[in-house]
Amino acid sequence: MATDLRLPTHKIVHPDKDRFLNEENPFEAMMSRFDRAAELLDLEPGIYQVLRNAEKQLIVSIPVQLDNGNVEVYTGYRVLYNTSRGPAKGGIRFDLQVTLEEVKALAAWMTWKCAVVNIPFGGSKGGVVCDPLKMSVGELERLTRRYTAGIISVLGPDSDVPAPDVNTNERVMAWVMDTYSMRVGHTVTAVVTGKPVEMGGSLGRREATGRGCMLVTKEALEHLGMPVRGTTVSIQGFGNVGSVAAEMLEREGCKITAIGDRSGCIYNPGGIDVVDAIKYVRKHKTLEGYNNGDPISGDELLTLDVDVLLPAALENVITSKNASKVRAKVIVEGANGPTTAGADAILDEKGIFVVPDILANAGGVTVSYFEWVQDRGGYFWSEETVNDRLRDIMTRSFRDVLSLSRQHKVNMRTAAYMLAISRVSTVHKLRGIYA
Ligand code: NAD
Repeated sequence: MATDLRLPTHKIVHPDKDRFLNEENPFEAMMSRFDRAAELLDLEPGIYQVLRNAEKQLIVSIPVQLDNGNVEVYTGYRVLYNTSRGPAKGGIRFDLQVTLEEVKALAAWMTWKCAVVNIPFGGSKGGVVCDPLKMSVGELERLTRRYTAGIISVLGPDSDVPAPDVNTNERVMAWVMDTYSMRVGHTVTAVVTGKPVEMGGSLGRREATGRGCMLVTKEALEHLGMPVRGTTVSIQGFGNVGSVAAEMLEREGCKITAIGDRSGCIYNPGGIDVVDAIKYVRKHKTLEGYNNGDPISGDELLTLDVDVLLPAALENVITSKNASKVRAKVIVEGANGPTTAGADAILDEKGIFVVPDILANAGGVTVSYFEWVQDRGGYFWSEETVNDRLRDIMTRSFRDVLSLSRQHKVNMRTAAYMLAISRVSTVHKLRGIYA
C-alpha cells in the first residue's frame, strides 16, 4: 500500500508567516520563498516536513600542511539536501564567508534548480572556510584532496557529484576526481563535472552558466517587448558567471555599462570593452587598477539607471535596505540568492521583472548534467550540440515558469519554486517513505 503522506497529526504546513525573518540568513531566505510556494500548492504536511529538512549534513576538519611547514585546520561542509529525483548535484565553494546555513541554502536551491529545468538530479553543495586567493597552488591542492577524502563517503557518480562554484575551477575538479579515483581504485570521470575537457569535461561547460543567463535575459526582454540591441546592463561579479554573461550579452548587441568585482567597480556609459576587461582580469586576477571607466561603489553599481542588472557574485546584495533604489527594469540572478526575501516585495511593487536564480543560473547544472551523461556513455558531443540542447532547456524552462506565473498571478520566483516543489513532491509521493 502506498504511504499516506498526508498523515501527520499536527498541523505544520505554512508556519506563522510573520515569524522573525533574519534577512541575512540564506536558509531563511530560501525557506520563506519555499513556504509561500508550498502554501499556494497546498502541499501535504508530510511532504512539507520532508522537504524543509536536508537529508545529510557533513562537517569535516581539514588539516593542511602549509608551505611554511605549519599546519592549519580548515572547516569544510557538504550538504545533500534532497536526492529523490536522482544523484545529488552541487558545487564546492572556497570562501571565508562559508557557513553551514549558507551551504544548506545553496544545497536546497540546487534541488529546486534541477527540478525547474527538469534534469534527473537532486541538490547538494559543499564549502570550505578559507581564503583561496592567499593560498599557493600546492596548499590549495592539499586542501582539496583532504576535503575530498573527508566527504568521500557521500561522493560518487550515483550519489553526489560536485562541480565548481565560487573560487573553485576546473583544476580543483581534477584534484577531486583524481582523489576519488585513487580511493576507489579506478578512474571515475563522472564523479565531478566542470573538469578539464581533456579528462572527460564537456565542451561548453565553462561558459554554460553565463550562456544560460544570456538566454534568459533575451527571453525576458522579448517578453517585456524590449529590444536586445542597445540594452544597457550592469554586472556585479566578474568571475566565471559574470564575465561570460557580459561577453555573450555584448555579442548579442547589449551595452555593458558597469562591471565590478571584490576589488571595485567601474562605470562607462559608452559601454565597457568586455573582452579587454576579461584579458585584464586573466592577467591581474581582479579588476583592481582597470581604468576603462569611472570608479563607482558597489552600491552605486546595483542602483544604476540601466535596463538589466545581473548580480553574479554572492548572496544578499539586493536587500530591503537598497531594493527601493534599484532602477533596473529587469534583474537576472546569475548568483545564487543575491536578493533577500525582504527585497522581493519591494521589487514587485516597483514592477521590476526578476528572473530568479533557480532559473537564471541553471545553465551550469544543465551542462553539468550533459557532462555526466557523456562521461557515463563514454561518447562526447560537439560544442554545437551542447549549446543547442542548453538553449532548448533554458528557453523551455523560462516559458514553463512564465506560464505558471501568469496562471497563478505570481512573480517568476514564486512560480519557479512552485514548479520545482511540485516536481520534487510528485516523486516523493510516488516513492513513498522507506521504512
Ligand atoms: P567566481 O569565483 O568565478 O567569481 C565570483 C566573482 O564575484 C569574482 O569576480 C569576485 O571578485 C566577485 N565578488 C566576490 N565578492 C564580491 C563582492 N563583495 N562584491 C562584488 N563582487 C564580489 O564565481 P562564479 O562561479 O562566477 O559564481 C558567482 C555566483 O554564481 C555564485 O553565487 C555562484 O554560486 C553562482 N553560480 C555559479 C555557477 C557556475 O557554474 N560557476 C553556476 C550557478 C550559479
